[in-house]
Amino acid sequence: MNERILVVEDEPALRDTLEWNLRHEGYPVKTAADGIAGLQAAREWKPDLLILDLMLPGMDGLEVCRQLRKDTNFPILMLTARESETDRVVGLEVGADDYITKPFHMRELLARVKAQLRRVRLIREEKTSLSTEETPLEEPIVCGDLTINPARGEVLRAGKALSLKPKEYELLLFFARHRGQMLSREQILQRVWGWEYTGDSRTVDVHVRWLREKIEPDPATPARLVTVRGGGYRFEG
Ligand code: CA
Repeated sequence: MNERILVVEDEPALRDTLEWNLRHEGYPVKTAADGIAGLQAAREWKPDLLILDLMLPGMDGLEVCRQLRKDTNFPILMLTARESETDRVVGLEVGADDYITKPFHMRELLARVKAQLRRVRLIREEKTSLSTEETPLEEPIVCGDLTINPARGEVLRAGKALSLKPKEYELLLFFARHRGQMLSREQILQRVWGWEYTGDSRTVDVHVRWLREKIEPDPATPARLVTVRGGGYRFEG
């Protein structure tokens, strides 16, 4: 059964093109033409992936994303009209998983869609295989004053729950599972974001900075999540 995709785009020509191409690839598709209708459709239909335009009448894409991230975690692929650093960072901050700048090639968009769906499938399979083993759920990972509990999707620092954005959580979990190992930005992008087609490693750096603010005793001189010169990052625990 193919994953269901919701498209929220106010430009009729682009909306139709997206719908046609996604259907042609075998995905069931629904569309909405503004932010409020999009938000409602996402809540009711519960798609497996959302393609969300940034500039929308009524409620803009950022606000739709912010609302949805309170209680959903399906991948959100943002469409932005400008190659703007601010749009990109704000989009990721409100919980988008990937973004693509207009105008784009349909082939590129379909590749991004497939990469996101593959990432989600991988995570789901990991969970399933874990739950059929002797120990039904992955044990909490303890690193100093941090306790990461994958079974509950929560992180405690000195016994208090840390409020992490979805990508910060996935990033921390990935680091914790590979403690002491150098992880390149490419490895991180592929595993945490499912990006295989663009080498935009600034995204990793931004999220590492946010994560450090929450887990480092002194974020200005990181001791737990260290930068490896010319390489990537290493989690010391
Ligand atoms: Ca628009």
